[in-house]
Formats: sequence, C-alpha cells, structure tokens
Amino acid sequence: MARTLVLNAAYEPIHLVSWEKAMCLVFTSKAEIVAEYDSLIRSVSQIFKMPSVVRLKKYVKTFRKTMNARCTRKNILMRDRFNCQYCGQNCSVATVTIDHVFPRSRGGKTTWDNVVAACHPCNRKKADRTPSEASMPLLRVPRRPSWVDLLEESHRTLLESWMPFLMGKATG
Ligand SMILES: [Zn+2]
Repeated sequence: MARTLVLNAAYEPIHLVSWEKAMCLVFTSKAEIVAEYDSLIRSVSQIFKMPSVVRLKKYVKTFRKTMNARCTRKNILMRDRFNCQYCGQNCSVATVTIDHVFPRSRGGKTTWDNVVAACHPCNRKKADRTPSEASMPLLRVPRRPSWVDLLEESHRTLLESWMPFLMGKATG
C-alpha cells in the first residue's frame, strides 16, 4: 500500500505513515500536502490525489528530528541488499546471515558499523576472526544507512517526489 512521507515543519523527514493516516492529518489541519501520487482516492462526495509527502504545520518536538534507521536484521539485510559483503554473492533469506565484523565472541557489538550481510560459507570461514586476520576484506565499509538506502526497490520508482526531502536538498 502507498506510504506517505511525513516531514516536520522544517521539511525534515520524520517517518512514514499509511496514506490514510496522512489524509487524517490533512483533514484535521495538522498537515499540508507537499506532493502527491497520481493515484486517486474517491470518497462519497470528492476525489483526492493520494498524498506522497505531507508536512506537519507545527514543529512536533516529540518526534525524532530525523528518521534514524534501527539496526535490525531486516534493515541490515536491506542495506546490504542481501549481498554477502565478503564474496559479493547475492543471497536469499535462507542463505544469508548476519556477520559481526569484529566477532561478537570477542566483544563486538551489534551496531551499524560492525554488522554486515554474509553468506553462510563466508561466515563459517571467517569464524571468530577479524577480516584482516581471516584475509577476507569487506567489499564496503559498513555504516548507518540513509532512508534512501532502505527503501525497497519497489518503492524507489514510485517515490521520486520524496527524493529531494530524503536527500536533504529541499529547504523550507
Ligand atoms: Zn560470501
């Protein structure tokens, strides 16, 4: 289902909601529509365009200032696009695992800069070693992803109207 990007009053992305929730914010005058999808919504008496981006009228302090992606298994796999970060193989849900770059058994933490997607053979081969100890260099340095990185492929083509906001290029 179509999702709507919510911006705070300063045009910073804060979260994603269903388009129905976004329309509620608009109808209750809490938000204004910034960009729309081509899809139409029909109510009994009116036709609307589905909002793709809305902006809150008031600066809401309880929201996080920007959307911080949580370091979960799903988000790690999406960031790395299911590609083993050692051999580059594209994995499936069944063949992928999460590797701690600095091994967890030696105190490595589950943080964005210390976890990568890995295939099972690479994960087993590396074992409790660092990439340099195992002579298995990482293809990319792991880092906290942006929301653009985490948008699913299916969403990417739909969401051109979000891009200026997600890339931080739009200003109020
Ligand atoms: Zn691999």
